[in-house]
Amino acid sequence: MATPSLKIDHARYILTVDRRRRIIQDGAILVEGGRISRVGKAAELADAQADRVIDGRHLVITPGFFNGHMHISYAHPVRGIFPDEQASPLLHVFNLQSAMTEEEEYHATLLGLVELVRNGTVCFLDPGSTQFPDACLEAYEDAGIRVVLGEAVTDQDAPWKLPRYPAPEAVARTASFIEKWNGRLDGRIRAWAMPFSYETCSAGLLQSLKRVVDEHHTGLTLHHNSGNKARQDSVTRSGYSPTAYLESIGLLGPDVLLAHCLGLDEAEIDAVARTGTAVAMCPVTAAKGGRGVPEHGRMPEFLARSVKIALGCDSPNNSNHLDMVRTMNMAAIQYKDARQDTRLIPAETALEMATILGAQAMGWGDELGSIEIGKKADLVCFDTLRPEWQALWNPVNNLVYNADGRSVHTVVIDGRVVVDAYRQRFVDEPRLFARVQEIGERLQARTGVSFPRSRWPMS
Ligand SMILES: [Zn+2]
Repeated sequence: MATPSLKIDHARYILTVDRRRRIIQDGAILVEGGRISRVGKAAELADAQADRVIDGRHLVITPGFFNGHMHISYAHPVRGIFPDEQASPLLHVFNLQSAMTEEEEYHATLLGLVELVRNGTVCFLDPGSTQFPDACLEAYEDAGIRVVLGEAVTDQDAPWKLPRYPAPEAVARTASFIEKWNGRLDGRIRAWAMPFSYETCSAGLLQSLKRVVDEHHTGLTLHHNSGNKARQDSVTRSGYSPTAYLESIGLLGPDVLLAHCLGLDEAEIDAVARTGTAVAMCPVTAAKGGRGVPEHGRMPEFLARSVKIALGCDSPNNSNHLDMVRTMNMAAIQYKDARQDTRLIPAETALEMATILGAQAMGWGDELGSIEIGKKADLVCFDTLRPEWQALWNPVNNLVYNADGRSVHTVVIDGRVVVDAYRQRFVDEPRLFARVQEIGERLQARTGVSFPRSRWPMS
């Protein structure tokens, strides 16, 4: 059945993030066949008719948000269990993740999707953590969201419980995953290769996965960091810094998305920029995990070299929220403080990373990421009838510095309204919340991974 047409009329502001970065006051958008067919002043679209018209007088409209690194599978049922002093909970994380049943992962995913779409995310990349994509397919379909999926693979020792296979098996699994999943749900699902990291995968495996990706015209993502110690270890092992090593084996390129990317030096940034490689950065995870953004954060340098950056939330036990507005806020403020320079990462740049740059980094820039004629209609409508939106002079500043995802009023994906006046219709939230709480109890009991519930006495 054809998607009904939709008009958002008399929008207070439309932040188009188009080539000219136009901001339209009293604007209108017409959506036909799931795509934006007209956008302009409301007066110019006065003749436009649609099956449904949304009154936009109190709304600020942005393109839908892209989340470039978001482990959706395990963490919601145990969100918040790790005390702050547990600097790296990864050992526990992978024990919990690998212990999840299909039914548990389905419900954890469902909750992740509710949180993502209600906060305006229209597309996220799960870096290979979902173990039961068949079970989760229904959830993706019901939520109407776009997903970049894959299966995490390694073929080397790792300090954590990661899925490890002989390299030929890892390659075969990846190729069949891509063939099975890429393009499903009317193209809303894309499948990529997802080796965990260069430390846990052999050069041969990484190169073979890159060939699979090139043949299928899809993408590859992996965790990637550097810094003095990692650089020294890498030079001892291979003669190269971590990023130069990836370049030396032919792994960099526009279809590759490196996640986190802390601690890269000038030469490594140059390699990323020169090869057109994209980056996903998780500013809240970096801050909360004490990763040393003043020393290791390179977002301004990547942007200065026109590297496409997507923002990510990492996981509900890292950032711990799935809110791209709060993530934009952190991106915009943390470098100002880290380097005592308020010119760094303006609010507009933060919004670009959450929309057009994120879409480009994730291979979706031609069709999404901005409000332009011909692009797919993925839109977020913010409700300005809330105290944090007052007074309203500069909608980009208000969005990035005042607001958070709670003012997301309506979300449109592929021209379909998936959040309608704050409500999603694909799940009964109170029932789901109770179920996920139960799953968390079961999971902690089964794995023995649990911590004192609070530093304060709880009776
Ligand atoms: Zn990750």
